[in-house]
Amino acid sequence: MADVPLPEKELIERIRKLSGMTMPGVKLGIGDDCAILEPPRGHELLVTTDFSLECTHFRREWHPPEAVGHRCLARGLSDIAAMGGEPIAAFLSLALPKRLSQSWVDGFLRGFLALARRHRVALAGGDVSEAEQILADVMVVGSAPKGTVIRRSGAKPGDIIYVTGSLGGAAAGLKEVSRGTFRVSRKNKNVILSAAKTLYSSAKSAAKKHLYPEPRLAIGRWLREHKLATAMIDISDGLSTDLAHICEGSDVGAVLNQMLLPIAPGASIVQALHGGEDYELLFTARTKARVPIEIASVLVTEIGWITRRRDIQITDLKSKPKRLEAKGWRYF
Ligand SMILES: [Mg+2]
Repeated sequence: MADVPLPEKELIERIRKLSGMTMPGVKLGIGDDCAILEPPRGHELLVTTDFSLECTHFRREWHPPEAVGHRCLARGLSDIAAMGGEPIAAFLSLALPKRLSQSWVDGFLRGFLALARRHRVALAGGDVSEAEQILADVMVVGSAPKGTVIRRSGAKPGDIIYVTGSLGGAAAGLKEVSRGTFRVSRKNKNVILSAAKTLYSSAKSAAKKHLYPEPRLAIGRWLREHKLATAMIDISDGLSTDLAHICEGSDVGAVLNQMLLPIAPGASIVQALHGGEDYELLFTARTKARVPIEIASVLVTEIGWITRRRDIQITDLKSKPKRLEAKGWRYF
């Protein structure tokens, strides 16, 4: 087959064939005017939508098509995870440049559908159109038992702040990816071989964290089922910005303990505080709550506490706490 994009009708047919999965909760997927969803009895629906735009959220020269497909679905799934929800279906609207190769589109769909399959989410509809640059609009529909959803607004003074996994990895990875190489930089040429190997592997794991972030659905579900979290958000914009969202939503402030931050290998403290797209979960729980140190095989770290005073401060417990501005990462 020639490597030019397929005409609209054939592309939709191809997407339908590739996505061909039946999932509970989806009575009718691609192929009619609307999809028919049937959420479990007693559940309420969660809906989230995210744009992924070329040059704003990704670059064709930096990001393989599989990673672009993976990331644009991961963003929506992470939002469902952040409320403790179960994903049901995804909807994908794609606008593609005329000259884009069909192999790029196929790679994109491979990345998108591999993640969808892993989390048992059906691609149940969408649209295709033409644009100057690639544009993917992804909507994810999920559900949770009525009244059990974890919002941003439940944090109370005295609550402990927790984060899953590690922070700053995606920002460090973006740096590696934008360099176009995972090789050790020339600056480090003189380091001994074993050190070079470590640098190489931390650069590689950071790049992976940026290209293929893992939405924390199992942790969100666990926290909802165990009623442990008082407020929750996913870290898409960066710890400083997303913690500010919890504080605004709950009308409280926070103190972060700098010494406790789980900084990803290869990342700096600035990247851990302000780097976006880690898609970890940030949540609060009562002091008395028994939060395990690991949920669904992912580390959970206590990083601070909620205060009555409405600003965010950071402390190393030795010097006076400093004010932490929300300087989350916004696109490139
Ligand atoms: Mg979010």
